[in-house]
Amino acid sequence: MKKIDIRDLGIADLAKFIEKNGEKGFRVKQIHEWFWNKGARQFDDLKNIPKSLIDKLQEEFSFHALEIQEIQKSSDTTAKFSFISHDKKLTEGVLIPSLKRVTACISTQVGCPLGCSFCATGKLGFDRNLSAGEIFDQITLMQAYALENYQNPISNIVIMGMGEPMLNLEACSNAIQKLTSPLYIGMSPKRITLSTVGLCDGIYNLADKQLGIELAISLHSAIQSEREKLIPTAKLNPLSEITDALKYYHQKTNQRITIEYVLLKNVNDQAIHSRTLAEFCKSIPVKVNIIEFNPTEGIPYSKSDDKTRADFANYLESKNLIVNVRKSRGKDIAAACGQLAGKITKSDRI
Ligand code: SAH
Ligand code: SF4
Repeated sequence: MKKIDIRDLGIADLAKFIEKNGEKGFRVKQIHEWFWNKGARQFDDLKNIPKSLIDKLQEEFSFHALEIQEIQKSSDTTAKFSFISHDKKLTEGVLIPSLKRVTACISTQVGCPLGCSFCATGKLGFDRNLSAGEIFDQITLMQAYALENYQNPISNIVIMGMGEPMLNLEACSNAIQKLTSPLYIGMSPKRITLSTVGLCDGIYNLADKQLGIELAISLHSAIQSEREKLIPTAKLNPLSEITDALKYYHQKTNQRITIEYVLLKNVNDQAIHSRTLAEFCKSIPVKVNIIEFNPTEGIPYSKSDDKTRADFANYLESKNLIVNVRKSRGKDIAAACGQLAGKITKSDRI
């Protein structure tokens, strides 16, 4: 029988196990701290736990931590991490340093089942969900690199790497609780942003969880028929329903929602598109991030030219929307949005 990963176990269930085995109650906190705070990578790391108890834990549970397979450094100091799991699956995380912050972008799935036509991860197809522990590990593994190379800890987390977080929401929210709990990493939830392609059920669930994190939605078109061509799952999650879900998220959290919009040349960057987008944004407090398209082999789009991008952004600003134009980072090592595809190169290994 497959063992449960000990980090998928809630603290109450761990307490039950400890009691059932006649162990002292204070062990629960000690064990939990090893896994979520003191960086244990294997059962033998639990230094103040008696060997007899470690043996019992090991008999009952598995403990699978991610390891770093490779780090590639971009000329702009962005660093892309390939992580390998116990079952030899690859996922990726990216560290993006800037003057004021160090942002970590993390993955939630190995691949993604949603197949958006512009996304390299979507082309991979889906392999499996990451566990809460594996989502969490990406931060602790990248933290050490951030401290050593940027002399600063990770200040912001974006859940925008490989995969659709709403399809793995329980593990994501478990990892987020551990990252934000003052008992563990203690990161402010305001500094964590989860990006979804727009799965309405997930948006309602996330709102009800009251995690206090920021929400971003990958819109890419405010015209339903055109959005469906870019994002197959848009058929099941039409714009009208997305609007209702975003309104609910705002009501529950009082937060401004980020609309992500990748500009694709002659596809979604024309006047009709900026106008429909402005119209869509009217009913919800949002800010709009205009993202430069990152080309990947085999993906039939190109990025909009500078003037088109400026016109698009100016129009939205003229409608009193908050607009950020995001230049991509780490393009030379395929670490930019939508380029994460689990490829390991031989160059630049450290
Ligand atoms: N599945 C989630 C989160 C991962 S994708 C989502 O879709 O939101 C993270 C972001 O990268 C999304 O906004 C996505 O639209 C964007 N993206 C995907 N492919 C891209 C590409 N080739 N160029 C630029 N951004 C891309
Ligand atoms: Fe999946 Fe997001 Fe890529 Fe779409 S854009 S295929 S949802 S990772």
